[in-house]
Amino acid sequence: MKFLNKLQQFMYGRSGLDSLGIFLFKLYLVLLVINIFMKSNVILIVTLVLIIIILYRMLSKNIYKRSDENVKFLKIKKKFLKPFSNIKRKINDKNHIYKKCRYCKTILKLPLPNKRGFKKVKCPECKKRNKFLILREEKIELIRNNKSK
Ligand SMILES: [Zn+2]
Repeated sequence: MKFLNKLQQFMYGRSGLDSLGIFLFKLYLVLLVINIFMKSNVILIVTLVLIIIILYRMLSKNIYKRSDENVKFLKIKKKFLKPFSNIKRKINDKNHIYKKCRYCKTILKLPLPNKRGFKKVKCPECKKRNKFLILREEKIELIRNNKSK
Protein backbone atom coordinates (compact mmCIF):
# COMPACT_ATOMS: atom_id res chain seq x y z
CA MET A 1 0.00 0.00 0.00
CA LYS A 2 2.88 2.32 0.74
CA PHE A 3 4.17 1.90 -2.76
CA LEU A 4 0.73 2.65 -4.22
CA ASN A 5 0.43 5.77 -2.08
CA LYS A 6 3.80 6.93 -3.26
CA LEU A 7 2.87 6.21 -6.86
CA GLN A 8 -0.36 8.15 -6.41
CA GLN A 9 1.58 11.05 -4.96
CA PHE A 10 4.05 10.87 -7.79
CA MET A 11 1.30 10.83 -10.45
CA TYR A 12 -0.59 13.70 -8.84
CA GLY A 13 -0.65 16.67 -11.18
CA ARG A 14 0.64 14.61 -14.06
CA SER A 15 -1.24 13.71 -17.20
CA GLY A 16 -1.34 9.92 -16.86
CA LEU A 17 -2.74 7.70 -19.57
CA ASP A 18 -5.37 9.36 -21.77
CA SER A 19 -6.97 8.13 -25.01
CA LEU A 20 -4.00 9.23 -27.07
CA GLY A 21 -1.67 7.49 -24.64
CA ILE A 22 -3.67 4.26 -24.84
CA PHE A 23 -3.71 4.47 -28.64
CA LEU A 24 0.06 5.01 -28.77
CA PHE A 25 0.58 2.13 -26.36
CA LYS A 26 -1.53 -0.21 -28.51
CA LEU A 27 0.41 0.93 -31.57
CA TYR A 28 3.60 0.22 -29.63
CA LEU A 29 2.43 -3.32 -28.78
CA VAL A 30 1.37 -4.03 -32.38
CA LEU A 31 4.73 -2.84 -33.71
CA LEU A 32 6.49 -4.88 -31.05
CA VAL A 33 4.68 -8.04 -32.18
CA ILE A 34 5.26 -7.25 -35.87
CA ASN A 35 8.94 -6.79 -35.19
CA ILE A 36 9.23 -10.28 -33.70
CA PHE A 37 8.82 -11.46 -37.30
CA MET A 38 10.24 -8.51 -39.22
CA LYS A 39 13.30 -7.86 -37.05
CA SER A 40 13.56 -4.42 -38.58
CA ASN A 41 15.81 -1.77 -37.05
CA VAL A 42 13.48 0.97 -38.29
CA ILE A 43 10.51 -0.52 -36.39
CA LEU A 44 12.75 -0.99 -33.35
CA ILE A 45 13.63 2.72 -33.38
CA VAL A 46 9.96 3.65 -33.90
CA THR A 47 8.92 1.53 -30.89
CA LEU A 48 11.63 3.14 -28.76
CA VAL A 49 10.51 6.62 -29.82
CA LEU A 50 6.89 5.64 -29.12
CA ILE A 51 7.58 4.42 -25.59
CA ILE A 52 9.55 7.61 -24.87
CA ILE A 53 6.62 9.73 -26.12
CA ILE A 54 4.15 7.64 -24.06
CA LEU A 55 6.22 7.99 -20.87
CA TYR A 56 6.88 11.67 -21.51
CA ARG A 57 3.17 12.37 -22.00
CA MET A 58 2.19 10.30 -18.95
CA LEU A 59 4.64 12.00 -16.64
CA SER A 60 4.21 15.46 -18.10
CA LYS A 61 3.05 18.14 -15.69
CA ASN A 62 1.79 20.32 -18.52
CA ILE A 63 -1.72 18.89 -18.28
CA TYR A 64 -3.33 21.53 -20.49
CA LYS A 65 -1.01 20.90 -23.40
CA ARG A 66 -1.37 17.13 -23.09
CA SER A 67 -5.16 17.29 -22.91
CA ASP A 68 -5.10 19.63 -25.91
CA GLU A 69 -3.15 16.97 -27.83
CA ASN A 70 -5.66 14.38 -26.69
CA VAL A 71 -8.61 16.46 -27.93
CA LYS A 72 -6.92 16.87 -31.31
CA PHE A 73 -6.29 13.13 -31.46
CA LEU A 74 -9.96 12.35 -30.65
CA LYS A 75 -11.09 14.70 -33.43
CA ILE A 76 -8.83 13.01 -35.99
CA LYS A 77 -9.98 9.60 -34.75
CA LYS A 78 -13.63 10.56 -35.14
CA LYS A 79 -13.05 11.85 -38.66
CA PHE A 80 -11.12 8.74 -39.59
CA LEU A 81 -13.72 6.33 -38.19
CA LYS A 82 -16.76 8.16 -39.59
CA PRO A 83 -16.95 6.33 -42.95
CA PHE A 84 -16.58 3.04 -41.10
CA SER A 85 -19.45 3.86 -38.75
CA ASN A 86 -21.65 4.60 -41.78
CA ILE A 87 -20.81 1.26 -43.33
CA LYS A 88 -21.42 -0.50 -40.01
CA ARG A 89 -24.81 1.19 -39.68
CA LYS A 90 -25.78 0.15 -43.19
CA ILE A 91 -24.87 -3.47 -42.50
CA ASN A 92 -26.66 -3.59 -39.13
CA ASP A 93 -29.85 -1.85 -40.20
CA LYS A 94 -31.68 -3.89 -42.80
CA ASN A 95 -34.99 -2.02 -42.53
CA HIS A 96 -33.79 1.39 -43.62
CA ILE A 97 -31.87 3.06 -46.40
CA TYR A 98 -29.36 5.77 -45.71
CA LYS A 99 -29.03 8.52 -48.28
CA LYS A 100 -27.14 11.77 -48.18
CA CYS A 101 -29.08 14.98 -48.82
CA ARG A 102 -27.75 16.51 -52.01
CA TYR A 103 -27.95 20.04 -50.63
CA CYS A 104 -26.86 19.99 -47.00
CA LYS A 105 -25.11 16.59 -46.84
CA THR A 106 -27.24 15.42 -43.93
CA ILE A 107 -27.64 11.66 -43.84
CA LEU A 108 -31.32 10.75 -44.14
CA LYS A 109 -32.77 7.55 -42.78
CA LEU A 110 -35.53 6.26 -45.04
CA PRO A 111 -37.83 3.27 -44.61
CA LEU A 112 -37.26 0.62 -47.24
CA PRO A 113 -39.75 1.06 -50.10
CA ASN A 114 -41.80 -1.81 -51.48
CA LYS A 115 -40.51 -1.34 -54.97
CA ARG A 116 -37.49 -0.02 -56.73
CA GLY A 117 -37.42 3.32 -58.47
CA PHE A 118 -37.34 7.02 -57.75
CA LYS A 119 -38.43 8.26 -54.37
CA LYS A 120 -38.99 11.89 -53.48
CA VAL A 121 -37.90 12.85 -50.01
CA LYS A 122 -38.06 16.20 -48.28
CA CYS A 123 -34.96 16.81 -46.20
CA PRO A 124 -35.96 17.82 -42.64
CA GLU A 125 -32.74 19.79 -42.28
CA CYS A 126 -32.81 22.13 -45.29
CA LYS A 127 -36.44 21.51 -46.40
CA LYS A 128 -35.34 20.84 -49.97
CA ARG A 129 -36.67 18.01 -52.05
CA ASN A 130 -34.34 15.18 -52.96
CA LYS A 131 -35.03 12.54 -55.54
CA PHE A 132 -33.33 9.26 -54.85
CA LEU A 133 -33.04 6.29 -57.12
CA ILE A 134 -33.52 3.31 -54.86
CA LEU A 135 -32.44 -0.05 -56.19
CA ARG A 136 -32.73 -2.12 -53.07
CA GLU A 137 -35.73 -4.35 -52.55
CA GLU A 138 -34.77 -5.88 -49.27
CA LYS A 139 -38.17 -5.45 -47.72
CA ILE A 140 -39.55 -7.98 -50.17
CA GLU A 141 -36.66 -10.32 -49.46
CA LEU A 142 -37.31 -10.04 -45.73
CA ILE A 143 -40.98 -10.97 -46.16
CA ARG A 144 -39.90 -14.01 -48.13
CA ASN A 145 -37.52 -14.94 -45.34
CA ASN A 146 -40.31 -14.73 -42.77
CA LYS A 147 -42.57 -16.99 -44.81
CA SER A 148 -39.94 -19.64 -45.27
CA LYS A 149 -39.51 -19.99 -41.50
ZN1 LIG B 1 -30.81 18.74 -46.73
